[in-house]
Amino acid sequence: MFVQSVVRARSEVEAAWLVYEGKPATRLIAGGTDLMLQLRRGQRQALALIDLRRSGMDHILENEHAICIGATATVAALAQHPGIRAHFPALHTAAATLASQQIRNLATIGGNICNASPAADLVTPLLAYDAVLRVRRGDDVREVPVDRFFTGPGQHVLTQQDLLVEVVVSKPLPSEGERSRFLKLGFRGAQVIAVVNAAVSLRLRRGLVAETHIALGAVAPTAVRAISAERLLRGEKLTPEAIAAAAEAAVDDISPIDDVRSTAGYRRRVVRNFVRLALEEIAAQVAAETAHGSQRSRSRA
Ligand SMILES: Cc1cc2nc3c(=O)[nH]c(=O)nc-3n(C[C@H](O)[C@H](O)[C@H](O)COP(=O)(O)OP(=O)(O)OC[C@H]3O[C@@H](n4cnc5c(N)ncnc54)[C@H](O)[C@@H]3O)c2cc1C
Repeated sequence: MFVQSVVRARSEVEAAWLVYEGKPATRLIAGGTDLMLQLRRGQRQALALIDLRRSGMDHILENEHAICIGATATVAALAQHPGIRAHFPALHTAAATLASQQIRNLATIGGNICNASPAADLVTPLLAYDAVLRVRRGDDVREVPVDRFFTGPGQHVLTQQDLLVEVVVSKPLPSEGERSRFLKLGFRGAQVIAVVNAAVSLRLRRGLVAETHIALGAVAPTAVRAISAERLLRGEKLTPEAIAAAAEAAVDDISPIDDVRSTAGYRRRVVRNFVRLALEEIAAQVAAETAHGSQRSRSRA
């Protein structure tokens, strides 16, 4: 099956209606970095493409409460955005280290999500930050929490008539003191799909863990939250013992497989180390900030 026509959507509304009225063999294309390879390899088929690149959905808008990212915002634009760097460091690191500059200039956040790879680098930070996806069907817009979006490898809840239009990431209150980290292991330096990736966000209140999200990629049919590790940490101090227990528990939350990139056993070891490392880095950051704060108040006195 060969692509016979390409229609360029000139606005979000036009894109939404083209998708809504599209024929079964029609596919959306954004940056094309996943889809073009899949078409060429025969992994996906399409008779017609709806090109989203000029649909005007590439905004990144920041307000007091959230950052709203249009589905066709490029990974490069995410990596350069000062608000994302300041408020969502795990998402910033994931974007800045995804593939190469050439790919980042083309690849979009919507494509990374909708390709639904269990190893997609932007998905674990979005899970760690509890992002919400805005999906449009004709004129109707609905919101889908990112943890309810994926149903299996390469699969999600969108139908043929749905278009992902925006990703909304809510900002933590400054008083919540949220910290986060993204870690990725791949085997050929740049331009690699993750063997494992992990994103951790954590909020402390009076020295105890008030909330934490630990998201892991490439270790289950979809990216997953390490729910039992999160449960163990809530209400605890970030001690080496609590960190070690959470890292151990995270291994029970995953179901990795052997594949061309790695073995299941190696992925389990990496998950244990990544969860420990991310939590240790956050604990060190908190300790440094506390020491800095008490030094400043001593020098003021
Ligand atoms: C050399 C190379 C290296 C790579 N390295 C990495 C890496 O390190 N980490 C990583 O995560 N990925 C990597 N990738 C994969 C890819 O670049 C990303 O997943 C990218 O973000 C996909 O975005 P895109 O805009 O190119 O998607 P496209 O290829 O245009 O689309 C992907 C899928 O999403 C659908 N789609 C796109 N937009 C929408 C929308 N708004 N609504 C509904 N469906 C939509 C398309 O129909 C298609 O099925 C790499 C790819 C290559 C070729």
